[in-house]
Amino acid sequence: MIPFVNLVAQRNTYRKEFEEIEKNVLESGRFIGGSQVANLEKELSEYIGAHGKQGKNVQTIACGSGTDALTIALMALGLSAGDEVIVPDFTFIAPAECVAFLGGTPRFADIDIQTLQISPVSVEKLITPKTKGIIAVNLFGQCVPFAELRKIAEKHNLWIIEDSAQAFGATQNGRAACTFGDIAITSFYPTKPLGCYGDGGALFTCSETLAEKIRMIANHGSKGHYKHEIIGVNSRLDALQAAILRVKLRHLDEELKVRQQNAAKYDDFFKNWEGVVPQKTAEGNTSTVAQYTLLVQDRDAFIAKLNAAQVPFCIHYPATLQSQECFKGRPGASSATSENSNAALATRQAISLPVCAFTDVDEIIKSLAAVK
Ligand SMILES: *Cc1c(COP(=O)(O)O)cnc(C)c1O
Repeated sequence: MIPFVNLVAQRNTYRKEFEEIEKNVLESGRFIGGSQVANLEKELSEYIGAHGKQGKNVQTIACGSGTDALTIALMALGLSAGDEVIVPDFTFIAPAECVAFLGGTPRFADIDIQTLQISPVSVEKLITPKTKGIIAVNLFGQCVPFAELRKIAEKHNLWIIEDSAQAFGATQNGRAACTFGDIAITSFYPTKPLGCYGDGGALFTCSETLAEKIRMIANHGSKGHYKHEIIGVNSRLDALQAAILRVKLRHLDEELKVRQQNAAKYDDFFKNWEGVVPQKTAEGNTSTVAQYTLLVQDRDAFIAKLNAAQVPFCIHYPATLQSQECFKGRPGASSATSENSNAALATRQAISLPVCAFTDVDEIIKSLAAVK
């Protein structure tokens, strides 16, 4: 069976580079932090700087995971118990979970049904005197409508955290993802477009003050030397993961290009498949195509065809966040959208197909054409 994300083929392709750097790290005796992590942070900042305006002053702080990065970002922005944060209702759990974990209240905004991104109109409706910020998730690899969101944020004095867990390498109107939020985050979970061999994440900010605070929070609230000024956490990236990421970062642009070509092939193929509509890429956006996602009217029948063609798939995501058990009875749950929302519709219709740079999409399309 075809793997959904072909990390084995990716490793085989860059094997020599990996083996050399892995050996260096394992024999260096330095396993946490150190020059591998410092160089990765520098190279990630340079990558963002090279991929659009506004990226020149960005600082990168590596940490233990994308979820940690969100928690640290909320801590750095001073989230307190009772504060409300607006998150999309259709996404991975982490943004809402981190808000609730810190005693805040996630409020769930609806999405645009074509792009599947958070709807600025829905966001504005949810603002109350307790609202402190918005977590904007660049879902499946393309940026949310940041110009509109920023206008709303400025009008109501809110911060924006940009969740680019799936979108490191994306752009919007020539500006790089990870430069739109007051703080941006990404995840290096293995199957993300830029993934390592375990857990990892990073935060990005152009604010010197926030960068310093983030570094302290990720390091037990300390600048070092056992002096702890604020309450922090332990969240750090291993040297080995950083080394692996540095290899993959060198190939990221090539891989993103192939992902985009794969998506274009699928788009072309599904044009003539009734009841199947690909996620729209909004004008001005380039996507990392973290997922190639379709909205399918009769998803069960479509799944039967995928199974017949032996094509693997994933359902991102099968339920709205506000309907998740963990938010039941909490303030803010069921606040924004109902079963009639676009978010709920997306949970019933969305399905993702293999699209990574090592997926043979021509072969998949051939198999699908045979069972159509
Ligand atoms: C994967 C993901 C996260 C969490 O990242 P981890 O590294 O798995 O903790 C957060 N937000 C979104 C949108 C994600 O896809």
